[in-house]
Amino acid sequence: MCGIVGYIGSQNAQDFVLDGLEKLEYRGYDSAGIAVNTGEDKFHIVKKVGRLKNLADILEKEPLKGTMAIGHTRWATHGKPSDENSHPHFNKDETLVVVHNGIIENYLTLKKQLIEKGHVFKSETDSEVVAHLAEELDDGDFFSTVRKVVKEITGTYTLLFMNSDYPDTIAQRVRIR
Ligand code: GLU
Repeated sequence: MCGIVGYIGSQNAQDFVLDGLEKLEYRGYDSAGIAVNTGEDKFHIVKKVGRLKNLADILEKEPLKGTMAIGHTRWATHGKPSDENSHPHFNKDETLVVVHNGIIENYLTLKKQLIEKGHVFKSETDSEVVAHLAEELDDGDFFSTVRKVVKEITGTYTLLFMNSDYPDTIAQRVRIR
């Protein structure tokens, strides 16, 4: 079972998210990752297989400064534990990021359709389709796009999305059976 943490506020988002993920370590995981809005056009994403400490060590050496971030500890269901398969997953420009807990049951069909449309996948996960789907269905309105994405996917999920055009928003969607 993975852990998901999102933060928007006045504190250092990286530290807040790492603290939160540490509290969720008891749930078990095989890799961890974070995306931080550092004020650039795209998100800064760091993903590392293994213990949360592996990720924390990287961030200690090169801290990411920003007040908005999402983080994830992964329990692999689709694709081996690896840096690439760790979350967050992202669109081509790294302007949209997503973390996912659960399983996207129709991911193979969606992935095939998205590849035919030119999307290039970097991981073996079911979760990455969500990021590419959001890019494909992007109508310029983050909230409407997220609504369209969840209409297309089946399965169970908690999802957090960030969009660099919306620096004060983390969108969440949950579906539990
Ligand atoms: N199914 C996703 C994966 O394998 C998410 C697993 C999880 O809930 O951590 O990456």
